[in-house]
Amino acid sequence: MAFHESTIYDEVGIPTVINAVGEHTRISGTRMRPEAAEAMRRASEAHVHLADLQSHASELITEATGAEMGYVTNGAAAALTLATAACIADSDYRITNQLPHTDGVPSDVLVARAHRNEYEVAFRAAGADLVGFGLNDLGSGIEDVEPWEIETQITDETVAVAFIDRPFTELSLEMVVEVAHDHDLPVIVDAAAELPPKENLTRYIDVGADLVAFSGGKAVRGPQATGFLAGRSDLVSAAALQHLPSGVDDEFWAAGPPAKLFDTDSLPGVPRHGIGRGMKVGKEELLGLITALRLFLDEDEEQLHREWDERAQRAASQLEEIDGLEPQLSNADDTRVATTTLVSVDEHSAGVSATELIHRLRDENPRIYVDESQHEQELFRINPKCLTGAELDYVIDRIEANLGDA
Ligand SMILES: *Cc1c(COP(=O)(O)O)cnc(C)c1O
Repeated sequence: MAFHESTIYDEVGIPTVINAVGEHTRISGTRMRPEAAEAMRRASEAHVHLADLQSHASELITEATGAEMGYVTNGAAAALTLATAACIADSDYRITNQLPHTDGVPSDVLVARAHRNEYEVAFRAAGADLVGFGLNDLGSGIEDVEPWEIETQITDETVAVAFIDRPFTELSLEMVVEVAHDHDLPVIVDAAAELPPKENLTRYIDVGADLVAFSGGKAVRGPQATGFLAGRSDLVSAAALQHLPSGVDDEFWAAGPPAKLFDTDSLPGVPRHGIGRGMKVGKEELLGLITALRLFLDEDEEQLHREWDERAQRAASQLEEIDGLEPQLSNADDTRVATTTLVSVDEHSAGVSATELIHRLRDENPRIYVDESQHEQELFRINPKCLTGAELDYVIDRIEANLGDA
């Protein structure tokens, strides 16, 4: 079976990727909604004041999340950096002007040790030090973090508590919020990949999180390099102050559109570029994200999940027919994530190991990416989220073609 849909990548001579992994950044995230791409193109046709557009986006984010204020960033990681910067500097313009240097400035962010992960560089980029709390269970009965374990780590240096909403532990956001708020500390939630379900848009804010970071390039299917922050207006405002380009005569600054995002009158003068300047968001990204978020809000989540489920089942039933492969469905009952097809490779009858098969698929043109994370157990996984039906058939076809001796 041939598979060739001509793309702009063919014109520049590089292979495209058939993505059976999911919305991973290194293989270019999600497929943007066509309406978002069209919005980006149209956004490029005229000029706009970015603060006007950010205020408009803020209204949409506010409606979607129930937060007081929203702000579009170039990715959830950037949203976390700006959120951290906001918690360190707040509205103190002396500190805003010196980040990421935090000598003599309280800048510790607490995080459950079990939540630590490679995205924490986003917090450190603002100048924060991460301080761990809680221990992992080694079968000794330590199943969860106790409130006192957070409390004993809070010092005069603490500016925020971070919470990563991935199912690493049972740690409850409610408890973390309660302890943090008892000490007047804001809670920053990394919810980059926690959509769907849509209800997570409001859940963290409902529980009392002060700043929540979402990715715009994952399930929202906006531009890959977008994300958004939702939260308390004083903190989102402080984040905007660190991000919005300035550089204008004093006379016109205070009366300008930035006044919608932060209190220009309270500043000593026109702000200089803050730490967010290198995380620019253009009018195209802004309108792309706004358009995609609107469509995401209207999407029938159950229908989408049924489609993923059907595709995963189709993959499983086709792979079952192939000697040496044994597929099974994962997460079929979990409507928060896509049903995926986990495939066990019997090297003896397939004539190839899982690892070698994964390599062969990646070396093809177009490259085929299946999830490799369990290759040492002779497993690979197909995630249907970023695959069209035709691509799925092609992937199955190429898996079969790549069995046996090379
Ligand atoms: C994807 C992800 C991020 C980064 O999101 P971007 O929008 O790519 O910047 C941060 N944290 C977690 C847990 C993620 O899964």
